[in-house]
Amino acid sequence: VKRTYEYKDKFLGGKITLVNEPKFNEPYATYWKTPKQHMDAFREKGWEAVVAHQTRNVPHTGHEWLMKGAWFAANEDLMVDKLRTGVLVNCIIGEKRKGDYIDEAILLAHDMLRKAGYFRDDVHMVTFTLWDMRYAGPREAIFHAALRANLGCTHHMYGRDHAGVGDYYGTYDAHYLLKQVKDKLKIKPVFVLEWWYCPVCAEVTCSALCGHSKEKQKFSGTLIRSIIMDGVKPTRLIFRPEVFDTVMECADKYGFGSPFVTDKYLADRNPIFNLEHMDVGKA
Ligand SMILES: [Zn+2]
Repeated sequence: VKRTYEYKDKFLGGKITLVNEPKFNEPYATYWKTPKQHMDAFREKGWEAVVAHQTRNVPHTGHEWLMKGAWFAANEDLMVDKLRTGVLVNCIIGEKRKGDYIDEAILLAHDMLRKAGYFRDDVHMVTFTLWDMRYAGPREAIFHAALRANLGCTHHMYGRDHAGVGDYYGTYDAHYLLKQVKDKLKIKPVFVLEWWYCPVCAEVTCSALCGHSKEKQKFSGTLIRSIIMDGVKPTRLIFRPEVFDTVMECADKYGFGSPFVTDKYLADRNPIFNLEHMDVGKA
């Protein structure tokens, strides 16, 4: 809100011309796609339905199951003998706050779910969008719908407290607003409940299905963070070991020893892209 008020009476709109494409640095370059490149990639994979997953986190198995559940929803009545539905993990890469996961870990950890086989090559893809989160909850959820429709996605998953901050919005406010405007959206929202690990079910399950409310173990951000801080490999039912190793490698390689954003990271991180070759004078 503060940022938007600071625009004062300046707000630009209209046709956009890309003067000079930025040159992305690794590991980002591997995951950068324009909207047209997204659509070409979906066509190449033979996907008729693509469900978008919005993220700024490294994935624990709760996220993994959220994506799996949304895959089933997006697959709907498509035949399953030839896979025609994909999950697009579209990471939000932009302004960072201290304590956020570092961007490199978000991208590489999600891609590790595919590399390590938790998702097949032909149903899963990781890309990113450059965007500074506004934490505008339900309204940002609608923006995300427009954004992913522009990438060629047919479905968009929405979990609990989408783009929320603290307890400012109701847990499922975004779902209610999306439901009201769904005829105007160019993408179909898929509403997903909270997933947790249940020791009685001995699996990751969902608040709508598991009745062991006393035994459930929620994937709270704080719990996952403390697991990562300790550096002790958690059970693979909560955090995939390959994903955990990737997060730790990213901490070493990109995070100055931490998988979370620090002052040092903010000051000295590898830039996402360079505009050094840009000659504005010529444009
Ligand atoms: Zn259970």
